[in-house]
Order: sequence, then structure tokens, then C-alpha cells
Amino acid sequence: MQIAIDGPASAGKSTIAKIIADKLNYIYTDTGAMYRAVTWLAWQKQVDFGNENQITDLIQKIPINFRILKGQQRIFVGDTDVSEAIRTPFITNNVSQVSSLPLVRQLMVEQQRQIAQNNNVVMDGRDIGTTVLPQADVKIFMVASVHERAKRRYQENLTRGITTSLTELETEIAARDYKDSHRQTSPLKKAADAIEIDTTSLNIDQVVQKILKIIHFKTNK
Ligand code: C5P
Repeated sequence: MQIAIDGPASAGKSTIAKIIADKLNYIYTDTGAMYRAVTWLAWQKQVDFGNENQITDLIQKIPINFRILKGQQRIFVGDTDVSEAIRTPFITNNVSQVSSLPLVRQLMVEQQRQIAQNNNVVMDGRDIGTTVLPQADVKIFMVASVHERAKRRYQENLTRGITTSLTELETEIAARDYKDSHRQTSPLKKAADAIEIDTTSLNIDQVVQKILKIIHFKTNK
């Protein structure tokens, strides 16, 4: 079973996808974390974010993997747990450049398809319904206004001790949306057969219930 959840930055995809995966006992795959991990790796090795060949070499030498630690899913680059390090504003503001590199995407997509081949998955990202899992059983496209998404990111940042102003977050989110939807290789785009959910005025539980209903309707689960 494959559930694809796509949408722009900070639309709440990962929060919702995690809850749905827990409820259905499926594997949750945060594909954004994978591109963030690649960005972190390039930064650590002081490779230019536009250097496709060197970044591809790095990923082939140092694998990016999810592991479960104390019941929590963590992301590793080689043996380093980067789950927190990939959430800094620096990585957030540079990930779109790295994720636009076609060879990097090719490697990540291969790995994502492999995860989906061996497990029931809820996978979130930008191109899951269009490119990674075009045959997914259920495709959701989550959207919310830029203002609402900046507010949510602001709250989330506070819990991590990061204080970026709301206006700055709005600008960053809009810029990332633009870059993610205008890149050449598999840009952020709603799949023709995806169901769009605008979460601007919905709480987490309301979105979860909506998606569970859609899954039930489409798959009898
Ligand atoms: O979902 P998250 O905001 O963590 O994603 C970080 C970045 O990774 C996105 O802004 C986008 O550039 C990239 N991404 C992507 N394709 C995906 C998931 C994320 O290009 N499937």
C-alpha cells in the first residue's frame, strides 16, 4: 500500500503523514529529510551546493539512511545522526538548490522507491505522486496560505530555540515554494489524480480524519 502526501513547504505534511502512518502501522518516509541530509553532507565536506558530480560522489560513498532509535525515526548520514542538524535555517535555505540537481534526485528517488517496494508506506515530499510513486493507491496534495504556514513554522522553530521573525519566515517559505515549483526536474506539482486539501483553517485532527476517510474510501482500509 502506498500513500503519497505532497505539497509546499510547511503545509503540515510530515506531522500528518507521521500520524497516519502510526494509525495504519505503515512506514513513514520523510523524503524532505533525505534532501536536507544531502545538503548537510555537502556543507560538512565543503562542497559547493551546485557541484552535482561531487555531491553525487559523496552520497555514493556515505549512505543516507533512516533508523529507528528508542521508537523514534532518525536520519543518519553514515554513522552520524543528523535529525536535528538538518532543521537549521541554513540547511532550510539551501536545500532547494541541492534538491534541484537531477543526479541527486535520481539517487534519492531510487532509494525512496526501494523503501516503498518493501513496505506499506506513507511518503511525504514534493514529487511523490508525480514521480516517485506514480501508481500510489492514494495521493494527497496539502496546501495552506503562506501566512498560515509561516505561523506554524514559527511555533515549530520556537520549540527548537530558533527565533526567526514571522515576516522573514514568510519570505523564506515563498522563496522555497518558488524554487521547488520552478526547477526543471520533477518540480513541486499536484498530480492529476491527487486530492487537494487546504489546511489553512483546519487543525491537525481534522486533516487526519479527512485523509483517513479518503484512504478508507479508496482502499477499504
Ligand atoms: O519537506 P521539507 O520542507 O523538509 O523539504 C525540504 C526540501 O527538500 C524542499 O524544499 C525541496 O527542495 C526538497 N524536496 C524535494 N523533493 C521531495 C521532498 C523535498 O525536492 N520529494
